[in-house]
Amino acid sequence: MIAADRVTPVVGRFAPSPTGPLHAGSVLAALGSWLMARRRGGLWHVRIEDVDRVRAVPGMAERQLATLQALGLHADGPIVRQSDRDAHYQQALDRLLETGDAFVCHCSRRDLEASHGRHQGRCVAVRRRPDPAIRLRVPVGTRVAFEDRLRGRIEQDVGEAVGDFVLRRADGLWAYQLAVVVDDAAQQVTHVVRGADLLDSTPRQILLQRRLGLPTPAYAHLPLLLDADGRKLSKSDAASPVEPALPLRALERAWQQLGQAALGDVADVRAFLERACACFDPGRIPRDDIRLCGAPQARGTFD
Ligand code: GLU
Repeated sequence: MIAADRVTPVVGRFAPSPTGPLHAGSVLAALGSWLMARRRGGLWHVRIEDVDRVRAVPGMAERQLATLQALGLHADGPIVRQSDRDAHYQQALDRLLETGDAFVCHCSRRDLEASHGRHQGRCVAVRRRPDPAIRLRVPVGTRVAFEDRLRGRIEQDVGEAVGDFVLRRADGLWAYQLAVVVDDAAQQVTHVVRGADLLDSTPRQILLQRRLGLPTPAYAHLPLLLDADGRKLSKSDAASPVEPALPLRALERAWQQLGQAALGDVADVRAFLERACACFDPGRIPRDDIRLCGAPQARGTFD
């Protein structure tokens, strides 16, 4: 772990999209991010990522928050909801438009078919749309590298891999990439600990932070939980929701999936979290995805 962590107060967060009930993978991310923050006496925030109003399921955020309560994972400070934060995303977008980093794009999905769905440098729209998207300009050769705390150095040519990516969609909704960068900075998050399904998004987020003059937090991407067929568990599939009546079982399972040594008998959630906080060893977190029927494999190299 780099020396700076010892002096900077740690701020972690858990940021579920309210598209379905929390499942075992969500508990892994929630507990992993909570432990990373709490073991150093840091803060832990909860943010409801309901930026995609089309996919957000009514009432689901409340259900997710109730599950977190049952798990004893209490947020510091108010719960932030992306649906309340349009003005902040607009401000960031205006700045990127002013600097010329962002541009209005009239391309439709069909227009982009020839470039494998990637937008690169030039709008190829056949006709102007009343509702254009706004994209970040990302020329080929825009390389972003970072040190993932579990997976080591990750590097991506964002221009090559993704191209000019969307910040505000043609349907007027904010893109996740913009919202998450603005919110992590606003909440002063220093450690983003989340599932490896988002590993691919991190270079885009770091690029946006650089263009907006925002700090880059430390990143650690936890192993994904896969079902018996090797598919990632997904909230929108309602895959194995957590049973809020059995919170200790869900925590113990996540603890084991984090590769941690057994804690022995604990009376309740509170006692579990207290002991977990004292015994947590990030160096034991497995790097490989976990099939729910199988055991964790390789170890990470934290600290
Ligand atoms: N909202 C995302 C999800 O529920 C997580 C985003 C993040 O942690 O950056 O999968």
